[in-house]
Amino acid sequence: MSPHIPDRRQPGAKKLDWFEPSDEARVRVLAWTCDCLAMVYELCQAGGQGFIRCTLQNEDAPEIRETHRWSLAQAREVWAALLTGMVR
Ligand SMILES: [Zn+2]
Repeated sequence: MSPHIPDRRQPGAKKLDWFEPSDEARVRVLAWTCDCLAMVYELCQAGGQGFIRCTLQNEDAPEIRETHRWSLAQAREVWAALLTGMVR
């Protein structure tokens, strides 16, 4: 079962910066959150680096945003923090 992002951020949670998606050809999705919610988050890998992508599932056109690129280890840490509401 895919995890859900907690509704509320933890007190003192850090805010991630979100950017327009890059046109990366080879993106591997390593993990994702449940798509029963409008906003779906994915842990992605591209060229040995990791980042997080979020998609707002609009009826007509999904809105996609991505974080900075990090090392894969760092991206996994951010992913874990996201799932526990420590960053958003
Ligand atoms: Zn769900």
